[in-house]
Amino acid sequence: MIVLFAGKIRFFDTTLRDGEQTPGVSLSPEKKLKIATKLADIGVDVIEVGSAVASEGEREAIRIASDARLGSEICTYVRAVKQDIDYAADFGADSVHLVVPVSDLHIEKKLRKTRDDICTMALEAVKYAKGRGLIVELSGEDASRADQEFVHKIFSEGVDAGADRLCFCDTVGFLTPERTREIMPRLCLAPLSIHCHDDFGFALANTIAALQSGASCAHTTVNGLGERAGNTPFEELVMNLETLYHIHTGIKIDEIYSLATLVSRLTGVPLPTNKAVVGEMAFTHESGIHAHGVLKEASTYEPIKPEMVGRKRRIVLGKHSGSTSVAAALTEKDYHPNDAHLKEIVKRIKELGDEGKRVTDADLLAIAEVVMNLETEPLLALRQFTVVSGSNVTPTASVTLKVKGQEVTGASTGTGPVDAAIEALRKSVADVADIRLEEYHVDAITGGTDALVDVMVKLSKDDKVITSRGARTDIIMASVEAVIAGMNRLLRE
Ligand code: MN
Repeated sequence: MIVLFAGKIRFFDTTLRDGEQTPGVSLSPEKKLKIATKLADIGVDVIEVGSAVASEGEREAIRIASDARLGSEICTYVRAVKQDIDYAADFGADSVHLVVPVSDLHIEKKLRKTRDDICTMALEAVKYAKGRGLIVELSGEDASRADQEFVHKIFSEGVDAGADRLCFCDTVGFLTPERTREIMPRLCLAPLSIHCHDDFGFALANTIAALQSGASCAHTTVNGLGERAGNTPFEELVMNLETLYHIHTGIKIDEIYSLATLVSRLTGVPLPTNKAVVGEMAFTHESGIHAHGVLKEASTYEPIKPEMVGRKRRIVLGKHSGSTSVAAALTEKDYHPNDAHLKEIVKRIKELGDEGKRVTDADLLAIAEVVMNLETEPLLALRQFTVVSGSNVTPTASVTLKVKGQEVTGASTGTGPVDAAIEALRKSVADVADIRLEEYHVDAITGGTDALVDVMVKLSKDDKVITSRGARTDIIMASVEAVIAGMNRLLRE
């Protein structure tokens, strides 16, 4: 099948209007300007900044976005009401998204009017908006459930009255791609936009179908925000057109991820982890075989290169990871463990996996660095370790070490369990060497109280100073491990 698209596909962004109608989302004029600036920079053609009649803040947003001269057309949603249109013109919008209901359901039940009333209102509003110097996109609300003869009539009379563009709104997501292909061609009486909602998961498919059937402009929102299940996601549409249909959209696709995270941060709506293109897992590989494949040849399991959309691949290891994928992940980072070290690294990853944790790149590198610095035949090894801590009790640690073949035991109190543990270790080797702790630093690598903890210690003996690390989910064990690894090196030297 030959697929035809209209010439240049235009992007009409409604993140700041339909997207803002996502329950619980409200954006100040300043936040809207930040998002609008990024949208203009990435290359969208039209930015619907808000609904002029809704509030003073909305009008302020239109004014500052227009004053900023962002390079994209600044549009605002209006009803077929003079006051709305006056606000749009007075506050500096370039265009209006003039929305009139066209389904009998909306006309009769919502507005208690007739089709003729709606036609008259729409045409008067088009003429009035043109008289005020605005570009007019005449939009049929709930068009997918309307009598298509009526949609055609109002569009055709609207164009005669001066409307510059038309928009077909699938307000509640009722379209299918097949029906879209049937309906669109007849309605291209002026440049036609398609506005889809994702109630049945068809928003993107319907948008593509419309663009293949004469529509030249897509209404989209960043991250698919919008009423109920949301609108057609901008990032998905762009990557779909670019990658699957080889259409050069003119959008700066390497800024897609930074746009998505900006919008997520400012709206407070988190990105679903499994969201296409921008979700946390979109470029994360977990299973051993997939990770292995991706490291050999990325296209085996990556349809889009992460760098294309401004992202990075993440290899996450877990209990399913074999030594091959662990070794491959390490080789990519230029770590080359010997067999014994690799075995220990895999063992630790599986332990974390068994506790239900994912092991990120950063976790893996921390584990590898610790394990690869472990001595194969240590002078000093941990035999037993106990620590007591709590309220109304002095933190106390006791430790048994094997030092050069001899068992030694030490105990100490401290200001906290870590302090007590390190002091007990220090005391138990005091007969052999005077080792001092110069510095102690701790990082939780990934968020959460069950995250892998990376401890760095700086130890000194005489005039020698070394640093060593420990990586465990238990902060005290990570500290003990770091100190023992460091002591081993100091004693050997
Ligand atoms: Mn909508």
